Amino acid sequence: MTTLPSHAQIVVIGGGIIGCSTAYHLARDHKADVILLEQGTLTSGSTWHAAGLVGQLRSSASITRVLKYSVDLYKGLEAETGLATGWKMTGCLRLATNQDRWTEFRRLATTAGSFGMDMHLISPEEVKRMWPLMNVDDLVGASWLPTDGQASPSDITQSLARGARMHGAKIVENVRVTGFEMKDGRILKVKTTLGDIACEKVVNCAGQWARQVGAMAGINVPLQPVKHQYIITERLDGLSTDAPTIRDPDRLTYFKEEVGGLVMGGYEPNPQPWTTGDVPDEWAFRLFDDDFDHFEQHMVQAIERIPALEKAGVKQMINGPESFTPDGNFILGVAPECKNMFVGAGFNAFGIASGGGAGWVLAQWVVDGEAPLDLWVVDIRRFAGMHRDRQWVLDRTLEAYGKHYTIGFPHEEYQSGRPRLVSPLYDRLKGHGAVFGSKLGWERPNWFAPAGTEGRDVYSMGRQNWFDAVGQEHHHVREAVGIFDQSSFAKYEMSGPDAATVLDLICANDVT
Ligand SMILES: Cc1cc2nc3c(=O)[nH]c(=O)nc-3n(C[C@H](O)[C@H](O)[C@H](O)COP(=O)(O)OP(=O)(O)OC[C@H]3O[C@@H](n4cnc5c(N)ncnc54)[C@H](O)[C@@H]3O)c2cc1C
Repeated sequence: MTTLPSHAQIVVIGGGIIGCSTAYHLARDHKADVILLEQGTLTSGSTWHAAGLVGQLRSSASITRVLKYSVDLYKGLEAETGLATGWKMTGCLRLATNQDRWTEFRRLATTAGSFGMDMHLISPEEVKRMWPLMNVDDLVGASWLPTDGQASPSDITQSLARGARMHGAKIVENVRVTGFEMKDGRILKVKTTLGDIACEKVVNCAGQWARQVGAMAGINVPLQPVKHQYIITERLDGLSTDAPTIRDPDRLTYFKEEVGGLVMGGYEPNPQPWTTGDVPDEWAFRLFDDDFDHFEQHMVQAIERIPALEKAGVKQMINGPESFTPDGNFILGVAPECKNMFVGAGFNAFGIASGGGAGWVLAQWVVDGEAPLDLWVVDIRRFAGMHRDRQWVLDRTLEAYGKHYTIGFPHEEYQSGRPRLVSPLYDRLKGHGAVFGSKLGWERPNWFAPAGTEGRDVYSMGRQNWFDAVGQEHHHVREAVGIFDQSSFAKYEMSGPDAATVLDLICANDVT
C-alpha cells in the first residue's frame, strides 16, 4: 500500500496540467521538497479532454509573457524528459470579418511586436493559399502568428510529471485531500485519505474542485464549471497535417487539425453551466452526454467557413466541464484568508496554453511570497466579498464565457449582476442622466448624457459616444465647480503622531 511522508515542504493538490507544471517548476527551479497529490490518476480532471490549441496572445502584457513561456517550454520538454508532448508549431490564423476586429488585430500586432513576437497581418488571398479549404469571401484579413501551435494535453502533463519526478518531486495518485488542520490562519497539516502530511505551504491546483478544496481552508475561489463542447471529424480530403490552427472569433469558433480531420468548437453566447454545488469527487475521465442541439449554432457557422465540413462524418463529440471565472481570467496567488494556501485554478479553457507559464510564475510566487511579474489581472486578491455569492458568480461567469471571442472594445462594461452596490445618491445621479460603470460591484457614474441624448454606451474602436459629454464635464469642473460621489472608493483611516505630516506629504493639497 502507498504510504505518504509525514512531512513535505510544499504540497501541491491536483494532477492536471497546472499541478504538474507547478510541481515541475518547484522541483526544477527551486529544488523544493514537493509532493503532488491526485485523487484519481494524472490528467483525469479537465486536462485529458482539452482540444489542445496553444495560443499566446492576450490583452495583458504579463499574461502574454506567461503564455509565450509555455510555448518555449513545450518546444524543448520532450528532449528533457524523453516523453513526447505532441507539440506542433503550426501557427495560428485569426480571422477578421469587420473593421472593428481588424483594428483590434492591428493593435494586437503592435503589442505582439513589443514582446518580440512575429505577428503578421495578411490578406484573404494569403489566407486562402495557406488554408485552401477555407471560404474567405467575408474576410477583411487575418492575423498570422507562426509560433502558436497545438499539443496533446495529456502527453504534455505526463511529460511535466516525469520532469518533476526527475528533479526530485514525489507524485502520488489515488489519494484525496479531505481537509486541513489549521492554526492562526495557517495550514499546519493536509489531511488525506492516506493520512496527514505536515507542510509549510499548500498549492491548490484542483481545477473545478479548487473552490471546494479552498473552502476547506476557509478561502474563496470564485469559479464556475461550465460545459464546453467540440467535435472531432473524420478525415477531410485536402487538409494538410500541418495546417495552422484557426480562430474565427466573429463566428465564435475555433479549429485544429487532428489525424487528418478537424477539431471544431466554440464559445456560444448561451453557455450551459454545470453545478453551482460541489463538483462530485468521482468524476475521473468523465464527460456529459453529447448535446448536438446546443452545438448546432457552431456547426452552422463552421460550415460556412469550411464548406467541406458539411459532408464530413463526426467521429466523436467531447462535452466536458471546465472552470470559468467572472472576468475570464484565471486565478493565481496566495489567498488573503489563509497565509500559506496558494491557488492556481479557473483557467477558462486556456489552461493548456497557460500551463507551462502558470506553473513557472506560481512556483516562483510560492517560494518568494510575491509574484515575479505584474500579475494583478489574475491575482486572487482582485476578488471581494460579493464573489462569495454563488448566483452572482454564476451570472457574471456565463456573461464572461459568452464574451470569450467577442471584440474587446475599450471601456466595455459587463451587464449581469447589476446593480449590485449603489450609493445613496444613485437615483439622483441617474435622474441627471448618469451612465454607470461597475467597479468591484459598485455602480459609478462614468458620464452624464446631456438632455435629449441616449444614456447608453455605444462601443467603438475610435471615439465613443461619451467623448463630448465628458469633455464638457471636464471643462466645467476645471472652470467652475463639480461634486464627486466617492462612496465607491476605498477609505483608509490613518492614525498616529505623524499621520498628518505623512498625509500632507502624499496628498496634492494640505490636509491639515
Ligand atoms: C472541451 C474542452 C476543450 C478545451 N480545449 C482547450 C484548448 O484547446 N486549449 C487550452 O489551452 N485549454 C483547453 N481547455 C481547458 C483545459 O482543459 C483546462 O484549462 C485545464 O485542463 C485545467 O487544468 P487544471 O490542472 O487546472 O485542472 P484539472 O485537469 O481538472 O486538474 C485538477 C485535478 O485536481 C484533482 N483534485 C481535485 N480535488 C482533489 C482533492 N481533494 N484531492 C486530490 N486531488 C484533487 C482532480 O482529480 C484533477 O485531476 C479545454 C477544456 C474543455 C472542457
